[in-house]
Amino acid sequence: MKIGFFGVGNMGGPMAANLVKAGHEVRAFDLSAELVAQAQQAGCDAGRDVAHTVEGAEVVISMLPSGKAVAGLYLGEQGALAHISTEALVIDCSTIDTDTTAALASAAAKSGHRVIDAPVSGGVGGATAGTLTFICGGATAAVEAAWPVLEAMGKNVFHAGDHGAGQVAKICNNMLLAIHMLGTCEALQLGADNGLDPKVLSDIMLASSGRNWSLEVYNPWPGVMENVPSAKEYAGGFAVDLMNKDLTLALETALAKGSRTPMGSLAKSLYGMHGSQGNGRLDFSSIQRLFATLD
Ligand code: NAD
Repeated sequence: MKIGFFGVGNMGGPMAANLVKAGHEVRAFDLSAELVAQAQQAGCDAGRDVAHTVEGAEVVISMLPSGKAVAGLYLGEQGALAHISTEALVIDCSTIDTDTTAALASAAAKSGHRVIDAPVSGGVGGATAGTLTFICGGATAAVEAAWPVLEAMGKNVFHAGDHGAGQVAKICNNMLLAIHMLGTCEALQLGADNGLDPKVLSDIMLASSGRNWSLEVYNPWPGVMENVPSAKEYAGGFAVDLMNKDLTLALETALAKGSRTPMGSLAKSLYGMHGSQGNGRLDFSSIQRLFATLD
């Protein structure tokens, strides 16, 4: 397929490379010329501008940092929708607010385009390995049409519901992730303060009812597990800044519907404080340091 790809950053770069590996013709565009050059090295063609990037594209994919960037790309008189063929399928993989997703869906309905939201879970590791989970929102036929392309970049494709449902499912998951990471850090610190070896305590909780993903594959206590961010001074992984962005989206969504999210609010306060103390680019499991006991 001919694919126009916008945003070849940490996630989009390896995703576009996997599309090329699967035999697709990918034309990439990014605000950073350096990243476009990297995408060319991975076999992509370089998009000169928005119109050139979507020229002849059967599928258009975006992987952008914010709702503002997504609206700026697609909407308005000179937006990408004005240049994309109505035969093409538009897949927005960015994690963004549901208002922007709704605005894009409504503009696409007016212009006769098919669009789905398909935010991902799996991080940079999953994007590189081609094992991402796509959480889609939109019409069933459009989600089914996206499968062959999404399968070149991921292992799981879920259809959460109509437009915006992919975004809601994604932020519910990440709010839960923030909460169980915090709970895991708190329990490990309590055990360590009372003389337990965090590795032994982790093994005990893994075989007990406290078992959870943070403990199982992403232990936040340095030295308990190899090949996780806590083993590398919390470098790489999923940044505190991005967790704060997702928690903000979760709280905005909760406010709009009146949902009660006291745990999400507390998680946002703690991650916000941690980020503002110069830790924004560290992995989110570095929140363990917030629990360190003062001598
Ligand atoms: P990133 O900042 O590395 O990449 C985003 C890229 O988009 C940048 O290179 C930027 O120059 C480019 N860009 C911005 N506006 C553009 C435009 N109008 N046209 C073309 N390019 C444009 O961010 P990332 O880590 O790749 O994250 C992208 C999205 O994926 C975000 O919505 C993020 O929340 C989500 N996400 C990230 C992770 C992760 O672990 N990094 C995991 C899951 C989901």
